[in-house]
Amino acid sequence: MPFTLFPDARLALARDSLAGLSVGDALGSQFFVPGRRPADLAAGRLPPPPWQWTDDTEMACSVLAELAAHGDIDPDRLALAFATRAEPYRGYGPGAVTILRLIRTGTPWPVAAASAFDGQGSCGNGAAMRIAPLGAWYADSTARAATRARACAEVTHAHPEGIAGAVAVAVAASLAARSRLEGEHSPDATRLLATVAGAVDPTAEVHRRVRGAISLLGRPLDEVVAALGNGARVTAQDTVAFTLWVAATHLTDYPAAIRACVEAGGDVDTTAAIVGGIVGGHTGTGTPGGVPDDWVAAREPLPSWLD
Ligand SMILES: [Mg+2]
Repeated sequence: MPFTLFPDARLALARDSLAGLSVGDALGSQFFVPGRRPADLAAGRLPPPPWQWTDDTEMACSVLAELAAHGDIDPDRLALAFATRAEPYRGYGPGAVTILRLIRTGTPWPVAAASAFDGQGSCGNGAAMRIAPLGAWYADSTARAATRARACAEVTHAHPEGIAGAVAVAVAASLAARSRLEGEHSPDATRLLATVAGAVDPTAEVHRRVRGAISLLGRPLDEVVAALGNGARVTAQDTVAFTLWVAATHLTDYPAAIRACVEAGGDVDTTAAIVGGIVGGHTGTGTPGGVPDDWVAAREPLPSWLD
């Protein structure tokens, strides 16, 4: 069903996605604090606030700020925004720190991104972790979500797997937000994952694992982690398919989606950010199954430059 999505509606969807992403990031990162146990969250006991967000949220805020101000992604401007806003204590990986420092000191982003990892470019999960709000923004077009996700990824991730991861997450977030607009209460998980797989470079390992995620629907979490990963290697390959399985499985239940990420372990702030961004764009905040208001209140406020 073709429809017109007005700018205010795009922004509202993208902001809900960002709320889900940032709360997932901030709550997920709490489980790197010694003594925090997934069992507590499962029992409904939340860590004491404030929950500080990390690099996932900082970069996602730059993506949303760019869309809100200009209606599209300009890679040069986005690269500079990533580089100048990066706060060193937000948990950026060493590869990202190097690329952002090069950009900040005048190296063109295509050169900086290509120089990473001995010239192979980064296949890390960092391009996927920040992209869900862009997917929600393009709820009217998975094709547009995919092409703009690529543009957003290439600024830091030159490796085909890093780019494929971002495209996959953006398309999932686009579909999740669209199904909300269409009043679909429980979109079909198989169809969602199959559509994502169809939008991703068929030669990529990310593609192969997203296809694998379809056959794992309904299977126990530990089996899914064993087959798809949980982000422990911080690559797109071992992060993205797992997060899409979680999002497709729990698309109408944000707290359950985040609990699954925490229980799975691995790169929990990033898996919960990706999953939270996809699911939050579908559920909204303060709604039944949505991002709980008290979780939003416990999260450190978003950066003031976003307003
Ligand atoms: Mg992080």
